[in-house]
Amino acid sequence: RVTCHTAVAGTTQFKQIKHIVLVASGKGGVGKSTTAVNLAAGLASQGAQVGILDADIYGPSIPSLLGLTGQQPEALDEKTLKPFEKDGIRAMSIGFLVAQDDATVWRGPMASQALAQLLNETAWGELDYLIVDMPPGTGDIQLTMTQKVPASGAIVVTTPQDLALADAQKGIAMFNKVNLPIIGLIENMSYFTCQHCDGKNAIFGSEGGAKLAARHGVPLLAEIPLDTGIRENSEQGANITAQALAIKDHYIYCAQLVSS
Ligand code: ADP
Repeated sequence: RVTCHTAVAGTTQFKQIKHIVLVASGKGGVGKSTTAVNLAAGLASQGAQVGILDADIYGPSIPSLLGLTGQQPEALDEKTLKPFEKDGIRAMSIGFLVAQDDATVWRGPMASQALAQLLNETAWGELDYLIVDMPPGTGDIQLTMTQKVPASGAIVVTTPQDLALADAQKGIAMFNKVNLPIIGLIENMSYFTCQHCDGKNAIFGSEGGAKLAARHGVPLLAEIPLDTGIRENSEQGANITAQALAIKDHYIYCAQLVSS
């Protein structure tokens, strides 16, 4: 069982959240947000109270993944925002609050402050899990967030490609540096199953995730296939429960590991 980090624990806000789980990746485009949303859906389908915080200032995609693009969160008072609720998941995103072009040119302290504010000033209520979709990479912003958020642990998402694996390794090193337990590694886009012959095709190479996990002594939580349905659903902001079901076994497996 992962233990709670003590950095900011103790504030009333965080006392209502049992576990904060950071979902990170060394580089963009590996499926971090897709994984974060489906992990949230997997946990919610098991009856857990789940929230998702989209902290990816470089490309906030949770609004579009949840079909909430262009919406504005309701302010409960001067300092509190009401999270959206979609398919049993409470959601807040940096994308609801600032224009994409503004956020990407923020300097580290500004971004860290905005993200801390988003986390602190959202009325999450009681949660079993808050899944945080981190900005990709291992720079100052990511490091500061990792130090400031009282997370129980982190999940690192990678594809089997060498470049992605090298960056994922940096992610693992970052979490080790701040002594945040790594719940595990998720390899996404691991293979494609041919619809004609049912054969598995490891388009981006095979076993990279397994080897990286073994090298660092962290569990490989799942190897998620390339799946047309996953891409289509995320582009349409379609029902995430259906999306999670499309690859149910993988995400439920992850969700069980996170909760055990
Ligand atoms: P990141 O958060 O790492 O930038 P995203 O989750 O936004 O990555 O995914 C990038 C793109 O890849 C999206 O268009 C998404 O729909 C697609 N994608 C992610 N995982 C898969 C998968 N397993 N199969 C097919 N498409 C995927």
